[in-house]
Amino acid sequence: MTQSFQKVHALTGMKDVLPDASAPWEQLEQTVRTWLASYGYRNMRTPVLEYTRLFARGIGEVTDIVEKEMYSFTDALSDEALTMRPEFTAGMVRATIEHNMLYDRAHRVYAMGPVFRREKPQRGRYRQFHQIDVEALGFAGPDIDAELIVMLNRLWAILGLPDIRLELNSLGQADERAAHRSALIQYLEQHRDVLDGEATRRMHTNPLRVLDSKNPAMQDMANNAPPLFDFLGEASRAHFDGVCHRLDDAGIAYRMNPRLVRGLDYYNLTVFEWVTDRLGAQGTVCGGGRYDGLIDLLGGKPAPAVGFAIGMERLLDLCDQAGESSAQAECQVYMIHQSDDAQRRACRVAEQLRDEGLRVIVHAGSGSFKSQFKRADASGAAVAVILGADELSSGTASIKWLRAQSLETRVQQETIPLERLVTELKLKV
Ligand code: ATP
Ligand code: MG
Repeated sequence: MTQSFQKVHALTGMKDVLPDASAPWEQLEQTVRTWLASYGYRNMRTPVLEYTRLFARGIGEVTDIVEKEMYSFTDALSDEALTMRPEFTAGMVRATIEHNMLYDRAHRVYAMGPVFRREKPQRGRYRQFHQIDVEALGFAGPDIDAELIVMLNRLWAILGLPDIRLELNSLGQADERAAHRSALIQYLEQHRDVLDGEATRRMHTNPLRVLDSKNPAMQDMANNAPPLFDFLGEASRAHFDGVCHRLDDAGIAYRMNPRLVRGLDYYNLTVFEWVTDRLGAQGTVCGGGRYDGLIDLLGGKPAPAVGFAIGMERLLDLCDQAGESSAQAECQVYMIHQSDDAQRRACRVAEQLRDEGLRVIVHAGSGSFKSQFKRADASGAAVAVILGADELSSGTASIKWLRAQSLETRVQQETIPLERLVTELKLKV
C-alpha cells in the first residue's frame, strides 16, 4: 500500500509556464537572439549558483538585493556559502576574469535565463523571474553606452511596443560621488525629522539610496536634495554629452532624471531606465548603466564595462497588451490510423514529413476514428491524415483539412496515392 502523500505545489512567487502560454516566451527568446546578433552580441552562459561573496562584493553589501533578497544557503558538503544568482552581471564579470577574456580585446555578450530574489510577489515582481542581460565588456566610450540604448529602442520597435520612456542620469566618478556624498549626508542630517527608519539607517552607509525611497512623506525632501549632477567634473560631463548627442542623432527622446541612482552599488557615469505606465506599480522594464570599477573590484585587471538587464515577465506583459498572442498549435499534421500495421506505416510517413520540415503528431495508442479526430482537432493541426484499412490495402492516404482558412481553397477531404502525400502536404500546409 502506498503511503498518503501531501500534494506538492510550486513555491510562492515562482511560476509555471504551461504549454499554452509558452509560445510568447519562445517567440520573444527567438526575436531577442536575432536582435542581439544583428549588433554583434554573442551568447554566454554562467552557472545559476555562485559563491555568496561574489554577489556581496559585486552588488554591494548595502543594497536591497544583498541585504534581504538573496536565496543563500550553506552547502552541507563543503560548508561554503552559496547563492542562487539574483542578477547576471556579477557572474558574467567573474567568468570574464576567470577566463582572461579581456586580455586582447573587448567583448559584446549576453545571457538570458532565470534569476532569484526573495521579494513580496505581486504583478511584475516574482521570486524566480527571467532577465535578458547584455554586457559590453572592455569598452570605455560614450559610443557604446549609446549603442546599448539605440539597440533597446529598436527592440521596442520590433516588438511593436509604444509608450516606453527613457530616463537618463550620470553618476559621475568615485571622487565626484564622494564630494556629493558629504554634501548629501549633511543635507540628510538637516532633514532627520522626515526620514523613515530605513532612511535613517542608510543615511551614512548608502545615502544616495535614501533618495530612491518611495515613501511619499520623503518626496519633498528628496526632490530638493543637492543633485549629484552638480558635482560632476568636465570629463564626466563630456561623457554624458557624448551619450546625449548620439541619442539625438538617433532621434531617441529621453528625460534627464537626477534622482535615478539604480539599486546597485557599482554603477558610474551613465545610468538609464526604460519605464512605462502600462504595468501598474512595477513600471521599469529595463535598467542599466556603466560599471567601470566592477572588474577591478572583483579581482580582474581594471577594464571599463557597461550593460543592462530587461525583466522578461514585464516585457511579455507589455507584448501581451500590444497584440494578439495565440498559443502555438501542437502540430501541423495529425496522423490518424486504425490497426497496428497502419500505425507503423503512419510513423514511417511522419518521419518523411518531418524531413520536409513539417511538425507532425502520430496518434499515440489506438482509439475510434471519432476520438482520434477529436484529438486532431484539439491539437490545432491544419490537416489530419487518415490511414485506415481501405487506405492500407489500396496504398493511399486520406487527407482532411481541419481549419477554416485552409478550407477555402481546397477540397475538404480527398484520398490520394500514398507516394503523393509528402509532396502534397509540403506544398499546401
Ligand atoms: P525594481 O526597482 O523594480 O525592484 P530593480 O532595480 O531591482 O527593479 P534590476 O536589478 O535593475 O531591477 O533588474 C532589471 C530588471 O529586472 C528590472 O528593470 C525589472 O524589469 C526586472 N525585475 C527586477 N526585479 C524583478 C522581480 N522581482 N520580478 C520580475 N522582474 C523583476
Ligand atoms: Mg528590486
